[in-house]
Amino acid sequence: MPEGDTVWQAARRLHNALAGKVLTRFDLRVPRYATADLTGRTVLDVTPRGKHLLTRIEGDLTLHSHLRMDGSWKVYANGRRWTGGPTHQIRAVLGTADRAAVGYRLPVLELLRTSEEHRAVGHLGPDLLGPDWDPDRALANLLGDPARPLGEALLDQRNLAGIGNVYKSELCFLLGATPWLPLGELPEDRAAQLPALAKRLLEVNRDRPVRITTGRRDQSHFVYGRAPRPCLRCRTPIRSANQGDGSRERPTYWCPTCQSGPAPPPGTR
Ligand SMILES: [Zn+2]
Repeated sequence: MPEGDTVWQAARRLHNALAGKVLTRFDLRVPRYATADLTGRTVLDVTPRGKHLLTRIEGDLTLHSHLRMDGSWKVYANGRRWTGGPTHQIRAVLGTADRAAVGYRLPVLELLRTSEEHRAVGHLGPDLLGPDWDPDRALANLLGDPARPLGEALLDQRNLAGIGNVYKSELCFLLGATPWLPLGELPEDRAAQLPALAKRLLEVNRDRPVRITTGRRDQSHFVYGRAPRPCLRCRTPIRSANQGDGSRERPTYWCPTCQSGPAPPPGTR
């Protein structure tokens, strides 16, 4: 699942391919925009905002996309074969004289006025990789709901923007708290470290093709995806269970020894 760093990399790829170039092809394969044609206009920039991508196009237009679980943007030199998935999964094609940016499986794709981008991203909290990053506000947002489980609060992009399911589990491990610990019960010194820790995780992975949270290439994650293998620190078997609000359950991983706080009983899925 894309996290802030993945989206940042996608934005940079798109920006390098499209910014300053005139669109020679503009093809959105969603019924609402089937007739939208922006060929002849120049792409101004591509900016990530949390996990959202904003492609700004001359004439106060922004193509807003979101990768959600398995969307992606690929860039191909003209004449190269497109390999991002079957044709029916293509949602957008932005072509220039020498490149094509192809959006696959994009669950969110909308065209809006650049001056109205806030409608798409105005709800987001401080962006971990953005120029507006504000650790104090991020922490205040998180602590604003002290009864909320840590893992859920970290995924809520209104608190801080950029954390996905992998970093959620890894951050809880680094904080020594289970994803079910109510935020208000997180010791103050650890809560104070949270924003900087989250930012560091995303920043060190911003330029990496493979996400590493441990600093070790041979074991890229502390807990995510590792159940029931032994914890890298204490050898206790890592556990996994779903966490969510009922409508959206996400696989969550933790070490029952290194992390304190409530957790589902063993055997729960
Ligand atoms: Zn452990």
